[in-house]
Amino acid sequence: MQLITTKKALFEVVSHAKSTGKTIGFVPTMGALHNGHLTLVKRCVSENDLCFVSVFVNPTQFNDKNDLANYPRTLEADAQLLASVGCQFVFAPNADEMYDAEEMQKPFEFDFGGLDEVMEGRFRPGHFNGVVQVVSKLFQLVQPTRAYFGEKDFQQLAIIRRMVTIMNFPVEIVGCPIVREESGLALSSRNALLTPEQRQLAVHISQVLKESCLFALETPVHELHDALVAAVNAREGLEVEYFEIVDGKTLQPIEKWEETNDIVGCITVYCGKIRLIDNIRYK
Ligand code: AMP
Repeated sequence: MQLITTKKALFEVVSHAKSTGKTIGFVPTMGALHNGHLTLVKRCVSENDLCFVSVFVNPTQFNDKNDLANYPRTLEADAQLLASVGCQFVFAPNADEMYDAEEMQKPFEFDFGGLDEVMEGRFRPGHFNGVVQVVSKLFQLVQPTRAYFGEKDFQQLAIIRRMVTIMNFPVEIVGCPIVREESGLALSSRNALLTPEQRQLAVHISQVLKESCLFALETPVHELHDALVAAVNAREGLEVEYFEIVDGKTLQPIEKWEETNDIVGCITVYCGKIRLIDNIRYK
């Protein structure tokens, strides 16, 4: 496996791959890799001639400086894990390699068509501008045939699909199911920041989501919503930031289960100071 840190070196490798007609699979990540990431990488390896993974903690998508400072960084361990699952190229640039000073300061602009006005977009202003900024740059550099994203970041996946349509990237976006611990807790790099007690507590989030499926469709949407929020908040140490039951395509909140056949419940919960996200498909 080759570790690449400059755009120039990446360009050379990609040019060679393209000139020899190889398909390129790509998994963008922020590192601190876990089995969720590795599931995407394994699928990428199996479906493409070459697998590229980026490891870059993108400063422009963090609206909270502390969150950026505390984000776990484990490049050496990440590189070992990636080599063990057959990834051929890791692109791990530093921020100066990706952005010039002006780009770091001036917010990137993109027409989200309303997809950014709910959920993460509402609570993390500028977050998705940074995501589109970095993923569009990475797509220009890596020129992937296919790119793999997790459904755990449900809103991100919808926004990336819109970005690809609007910017005409010739790439197939592959959405991958959420990978969970046996306990049900969705794997996340941020789980590494939880104390053992908080980890136990966090399991409750996925449990409540799963249980809500038993009542969904027979309970009015707003009642299910309120009951779920109350059930999570009832645990001391957990605090729901938002829970939205949305149309899986438009991401707009629904009022009735009959409105569409594509319905997802998306939640963000603070476990102490750690912000965790999860979601569940109702329909
Ligand atoms: P991140 O490093 O958090 O930016 O994540 C990189 C990619 O891995 C994104 O497409 C995430 O949605 C995906 N991912 C992270 N955690 C999981 C998980 N538990 N299951 C599936 N995909 C995941």
